[in-house]
Amino acid sequence: MRRGLNRIRKRRLILLGLFLGFIPLATILTLAQVGEPVMGIMAVGHMAVLMIYFLAFMRTCCPRCGETFFLRNGFGRIFIRRCMNCKLPLKPRRNAGM
Ligand SMILES: [Zn+2]
Repeated sequence: MRRGLNRIRKRRLILLGLFLGFIPLATILTLAQVGEPVMGIMAVGHMAVLMIYFLAFMRTCCPRCGETFFLRNGFGRIFIRRCMNCKLPLKPRRNAGM
């Protein structure tokens, strides 16, 4: 169960990194003055990679119920902290006083 939750957290971080990674990439390409065609190709390529990863990410299964963690009845939430189907928390609760 813990390994499954770690995998979900890691995938979410990768998605965030891919999403925010466009900013430094665009900055570097702008500073390098690569020209509009290269910028366009990189932008489309980045969007394609992001979309493919996003679709795979949304199909991530919950380690407890086996249903999709971030998707329920066609509606999804990326930054939800519990499974959309069985409410399994992404982070384990810490006991008070420990
Ligand atoms: Zn679940």
